[in-house]
Amino acid sequence: MENIRESHMQLKKGHRLILFPLPLQGHINPMIQLANILYSKGFSITIIHTNFNPLNPSNYPYFTFHSIPDGLLECEASTEDLTLLISNLNVKCVEPFRNCLAKLLLDALDEPISCLISDVVWWFTEEVAKGLKLPTIVLRTNSICSFLAFAALQLLLDKGYLPIQACRLEEPVHELHPLKVKDIPVIKTSKPEVLQETINKMAKQAKACSGIIWNSFEELERDALTTLAKDFVVPMFLIGPFHKHFPASSSSLVTQDRNCISWLDTQAPNSVLYVSFGSIAAINEAEFQEIAWGLANSKQPFLWVVRPGLVNSSEWLEPLPDGFLEMTGGRGLIVKWAPQQEVLAHPAIGGFWTHNGWNSTLEGLCEGVPMICLPNFGDQLINARYVSNVWRVGIHLENNLDRGNIESAIKRLMVEAEGQELRIRTLNLKGRVDLCLRGKGSSCQNLEHLINYILSF
Ligand code: UDP
Repeated sequence: MENIRESHMQLKKGHRLILFPLPLQGHINPMIQLANILYSKGFSITIIHTNFNPLNPSNYPYFTFHSIPDGLLECEASTEDLTLLISNLNVKCVEPFRNCLAKLLLDALDEPISCLISDVVWWFTEEVAKGLKLPTIVLRTNSICSFLAFAALQLLLDKGYLPIQACRLEEPVHELHPLKVKDIPVIKTSKPEVLQETINKMAKQAKACSGIIWNSFEELERDALTTLAKDFVVPMFLIGPFHKHFPASSSSLVTQDRNCISWLDTQAPNSVLYVSFGSIAAINEAEFQEIAWGLANSKQPFLWVVRPGLVNSSEWLEPLPDGFLEMTGGRGLIVKWAPQQEVLAHPAIGGFWTHNGWNSTLEGLCEGVPMICLPNFGDQLINARYVSNVWRVGIHLENNLDRGNIESAIKRLMVEAEGQELRIRTLNLKGRVDLCLRGKGSSCQNLEHLINYILSF
């Protein structure tokens, strides 16, 4: 962080940016990384955050924080229905956000506030900021290819793909090549109409705002970007992968178990499969047991993140098969939460079994780690399809999550020639990531454009 501080002082622009992350782990991480990037380029940073999943300001001494009441009832804050959580946050935060932003603008005497940078899933922010004469740039924390699929949901409904019929799962979706019907990013919710409303409002805001920042890079998503630009005529800034602009920094809401790093130090290079399904995905007990048996039967070393809450209606490891720990002791380690970026960069890691959240997908690609894809819902389905069929750096576990398939996928990835091919391709992509972040690389250039654009407001 000292380096960031130094470059901030050297480049100090006397302009302040207000950032508003969506309070979910997979959205907080990229927004904080973006804050670090823009701070290192000389901007001052103010972050507005909610009481729900609040950030700890003492972890970010260079930023200014303002907390707003989100007004969520206890039952609303603890719901597993992500759609309803997001909708409630959007309804209840409008007034507190408007009041906070208005006050910040009134008090901004020493440094002008250039713009608001809001997660696009906060669908009301552009309109509120416009009312206060402040431009808004939105951050989309997912891939462009998944954004395209979300934006096309109404079309897919009109064309009869939705609701999804079990007999059509393997059919191609011609409008969204190479997706299959089973990849359409549905999210389970008790109120599907609220999901569609959320997506419509998000897309509307993305069209109305002054620009969109993507945690992606041109070499990876050029085709998707071209398609998107036909419909979304706003400046686009692909400046990712954000986390590679600096050495690993953490904005984890949960304490990371660092013991796994010293355990990895004792393992052979490229030998360990890292297994993690992110901060939200949930599986049932039967699936958890198949995963456990697959890991045990594969005989490969593994580091497995079992987040409390991963298995529906379980506290933590109770559903593990009897004798699992004895069977795998020595070659397997289970933790509740890991320092993931550091884990993926560790030389002992040879594969990543992931749910394909966008952050995890990018983090794996950036370290040249080939994947096993087990998407759970939403954008993960699309990321997994691209990882396996377009970028061809992963094995898609798409049919029957049973121990036999899992054992075979792990062996294919970790010990067979197929895994070696995937590894070479992933390392190739890693090379392109490294280039895009250097001097005249696309993400570096786009970042310069973004800075000049913000300074032009
Ligand atoms: N993560 C972590 N430790 C873990 C598992 C995940 O720090 O044990 C981080 C991971 O590095 C990533 C984020 O949590 O930045 C998860 O985001 P992603 O978009 O992959 O998935 P989500 O949690 O939103 O489903």
